[in-house]
Amino acid sequence: MAAPLAPAVSPAAAPPVRTVSAEPTRTYLDHQASTPMDPAALALMQRVAEETYANPSSAHRSGKRAAEIIENAREQLAEAVGALPEEIVFTGGATESNNLAILGAARAARERGDRRRRIVTLPIEHPSVLAPARFLAEDGFESLTAPVGADGRVDLDSLAALLAPSEDEPALLLSIQTANNEIGTIQPVAEAAALARERGVLIHSDAAQALGKIPFDVESLDLDFASLSGHKCHGPKGVGALFVRGGPRRAPVAPILFGGGHERGLRPGTSNTPAVAAFAEAATNAVARLPEEAPRLAALRDRLEREVTTRIPETRINGALAHRLPHTTSITFPGADADALIANLPAFDLSAASACHSGAPEPSQVLLALGLTTEDAYSTLRLAVGPTTEAQDIHRIAFGIESARRRASANPPPQ
Ligand code: PMP
Repeated sequence: MAAPLAPAVSPAAAPPVRTVSAEPTRTYLDHQASTPMDPAALALMQRVAEETYANPSSAHRSGKRAAEIIENAREQLAEAVGALPEEIVFTGGATESNNLAILGAARAARERGDRRRRIVTLPIEHPSVLAPARFLAEDGFESLTAPVGADGRVDLDSLAALLAPSEDEPALLLSIQTANNEIGTIQPVAEAAALARERGVLIHSDAAQALGKIPFDVESLDLDFASLSGHKCHGPKGVGALFVRGGPRRAPVAPILFGGGHERGLRPGTSNTPAVAAFAEAATNAVARLPEEAPRLAALRDRLEREVTTRIPETRINGALAHRLPHTTSITFPGADADALIANLPAFDLSAASACHSGAPEPSQVLLALGLTTEDAYSTLRLAVGPTTEAQDIHRIAFGIESARRRASANPPPQ
């Protein structure tokens, strides 16, 4: 039998992520939207694409080799999140994983004659959680959101009440994100999961922003389902995974796509061997680097906030300062238009709101849920430092924002 394709670099020796930018003078500060690829993962992806193009479902020797690579990746990713290999289902990204967990749990409930119909989420969830919940609300289910405080953290008393409105009919599913993509707030997932578990409610967490950024372990959080994304942790885009406690054949989740029996019958479609291998490699390396990288990123982010608030004292930082991702900040500049600020910062890649909404005219729903006014929501930048960010970038962006604010208020954009 062919030897397993070893990771290009052992996790402990993984070099830091460094990118070759098409425009080396640009400064990328949008690491919640996507991340540069880990070089070891990129090299592995290319090697697998070149050498192992056979269909992993084929019975011949080359197909078996491809299947072996996928099973190695499954083991690797499982280890990175504290799961068993058979509990990892590869998908096309966290959007698909969220849809699969929510729509699939609803379908499975219907199929087994379970009468529970309530799905509880947070108002600050990613659209790929809120939209399937809303879709189900038009199909005989009930979709409710548990309120969050001004810091973006869920109110656990209100959550408990929503999870079990009456003793004989608790909710079917709680979907609570691990960390938010705009404000970086980390939810008390273990506490919320305990409330759900006591009431017999299934627990899903969208951990797309958490993997590789903070310690994340499905066992200690006591989750039934967790969504993961490749490109948020220095892996490729278009690949992700759903953790399914107990594995797809035993868990209360049904497929939402129909085709062959791939991924133990839960997710049909020919597996993307190179992307799956690269995702697992990137996730493993990001988790291995966490103890060093998280404090480094937090120090850069804190310095950015200090420099900006010193220059512009009326700024406000959004989210729970003691419970947030190490690399993320969301800063409101009262009276300034975030799009005008960005237009005046042409050398920087940063976003006014979630990249998934950009182009949409509405203000950030996340910020409104925190109680910000529409005007303040339109005056907010989200920034996230990453492996390529250096101290001098922090100084440049703080200085840049200050002068952009002056220029933007001197030349407001045409109405
Ligand atoms: N959930 C969260 C919290 C996210 O930030 C994102 C990406 N913006 C997603 C889900 C969707 O992930 P993907 O891009 O892998 O579909």
